[in-house]
Amino acid sequence: ILSLKGIHKSYGDLEVLKGIDITAHKGDVIALIGSSGSGKSTLIRCANLLEVPQQGDIIFKGDALRWTEKRGQRVPADDEQVRNLRTHLSMVFQQFNLWSHMTILDNVIEAPVTVLGQARNDAASKGRALLKKVGIGDKCDQYPAQLSGGQQQRAAIARGLAMSPTAMLFDEPTSALDPELEAEVVKVIKDLARDGTTMIIVTHDMKLARDVANHLIFLHQGQIEEQGVPSDVLDHPKSERLQQFLSATL
Ligand code: ATP
Ligand code: MG
Repeated sequence: ILSLKGIHKSYGDLEVLKGIDITAHKGDVIALIGSSGSGKSTLIRCANLLEVPQQGDIIFKGDALRWTEKRGQRVPADDEQVRNLRTHLSMVFQQFNLWSHMTILDNVIEAPVTVLGQARNDAASKGRALLKKVGIGDKCDQYPAQLSGGQQQRAAIARGLAMSPTAMLFDEPTSALDPELEAEVVKVIKDLARDGTTMIIVTHDMKLARDVANHLIFLHQGQIEEQGVPSDVLDHPKSERLQQFLSATL
């Protein structure tokens, strides 16, 4: 349902992504690992066009994104396609990015109401159910600052789910959390995987990658260095760089 083909992305002279191919089928959970600066965040941001790659294709549900040129830069040609892509790919960030002036429930229902045009009441009852599902049903009327980091991240996941996304994109969802809080978020991600949610997860947590992903990709300096079934790749790394990376993370 989501294919990235030959993705190149540079910032000025710095070539961050050097031709990346990734395909996520329905129900896939893809873990993206790699050292700091290898391009993981950039890649996941290209998937929903928070960054625009200079080369390569993005194919979403069989529909290839069309491009045009503006002032010598390649940009998406069709705003409707971009809106469609963003609406159906929910992104969860390391730093939660909840709106601090809104209650948790309002955070969750904002996009369903304004973007999808859901009635406020319907969105609210669905939102309450999602917050319950991620274990913070009692926090609906609190503000983000009143929640722990793990609770805030679970609220951010509920907000993403409220859009009934085709896939969820996670950028280091547990990196800002203490270990106990990390476990709460990992549990939610595992539940989503069990429900068949399609996900691409950037993570430094090899246990999470091993437990939830059916495919693991190791990025090194903007290229896919090694990929495959997580347990195979993690237990029998072929590339020397991956071996080095794994011994450094232990
Ligand atoms: P980390 O594990 O630290 O999050 P990462 O693999 O997510 O690293 P990216 O954030 O994708 O790495 O960054 C890859 C490279 O691109 C880095 O060298 C970074 O400095 C550079 N980079 C990222 N965003 C920008 C930007 N907006 N402008 C210029 N350079 C950038
Ligand atoms: Mg990153």
